[in-house]
Amino acid sequence: MNESFQLPVARHPLLFTPGPLTTSLSVKTAMLRDAGSWHFDFNRLVADVRDRLLKLAGVSRDSGWEVVPLQGSGTFGVEAVFQTCVPPTGKVVILSNGAYGERMAQILHHARISHSVIRSPENQPNAPAQLADLLDSDASVTHVACVHCETTTGILNPIESLGEVAKRRGKVFVVDAMSSFGGMPIDFESCGIDFLIASSNKCIEGVPGFSLVYARRQLLLASEGWARSLSLDLLGQLKGFENNGQFRYTPPTHSILAFDQALRELEAEGGVSARAERYRRSHSLIIAGMEDLGFRPYLETSLRSHIITSFHQPEDPKFEFMEFYRRVADLGFILYPGKISQCNTFRIGNIGRLFESDIRALVRAIAEVLEEMQVGLPLVR
Ligand SMILES: *Cc1c(COP(=O)(O)O)cnc(C)c1O
Repeated sequence: MNESFQLPVARHPLLFTPGPLTTSLSVKTAMLRDAGSWHFDFNRLVADVRDRLLKLAGVSRDSGWEVVPLQGSGTFGVEAVFQTCVPPTGKVVILSNGAYGERMAQILHHARISHSVIRSPENQPNAPAQLADLLDSDASVTHVACVHCETTTGILNPIESLGEVAKRRGKVFVVDAMSSFGGMPIDFESCGIDFLIASSNKCIEGVPGFSLVYARRQLLLASEGWARSLSLDLLGQLKGFENNGQFRYTPPTHSILAFDQALRELEAEGGVSARAERYRRSHSLIIAGMEDLGFRPYLETSLRSHIITSFHQPEDPKFEFMEFYRRVADLGFILYPGKISQCNTFRIGNIGRLFESDIRALVRAIAEVLEEMQVGLPLVR
């Protein structure tokens, strides 16, 4: 047997990453059984999970909403929206200030869907005025898409203002809320959202296995015949659920069992606003602890989300990220490398089953490793 399998659960490292993330023991143990994809018990559970997801988002079938789980990671859900819901002559504007905005552009490139990209620097939010200018000068645009919390840096983009610009001009508004949904309240109607994509393994604190696509039913039904992909056909997936209650192809059975439990735990915690409060506290503790050690956050305060935080790497030549990462991991904490193009950073996520004592233990471990590595940091306060 692989050695790591014999570690007691308590010694498994904590993930300070934006997903997959640390899940509760009860979420993990919910997977210790097998479920038949045809069996009515499992399909009743899938229907129940979909109902609870609509409630969680504050939307309903009566007001025209649907939620469609789709096998695969979050990217599959984003790709499914574009592959299914952009008409053959449609054109998408992407707002990008990081890797996930760029990924949407890549998806459109692969699908040969006409698009243009409004880029802003990674430390600046998407600009609604730039979107307005582009939409006013290009009438062929049908869809606008952006990333709510750009996980590359942790920056929050102004979805409410972007949505207003898009809706005022009659465009379909698509939001990748992968790393924020469930960990921050999002008002679908006041943001003018038409499609929102989330994932099983981020702020809902389940395990990987599927994405969640919230969609206005009328827009989904209107896309009949447009799907450029069979397995990523969102309308086909919805029809599957409505015809026989099933995922069209092999469902991620164990992830669904875990997700059902994760949803219960989100409800028990007090819902999205209570979870947001825990994340906000964890985020503040990370900033305070890291600043005490002399680290500098990459983003200015007003732009930061409470999901994940980027820090500049110390300038001391004795600091080498992989060495730092390995030593912190040996103490039981998994950090996340940076993804920013212009400077060296690393990231600390705080979503997942992490509490104040875990954050304090992480900061202590980082302090210990810096001392071992003899890295000097200028104190910022
Ligand atoms: C995690 C994430 C995704 C999806 O990534 P996968 O690796 O496919 O799960 C997409 N957008 C954002 C903003 C994310 O944080």
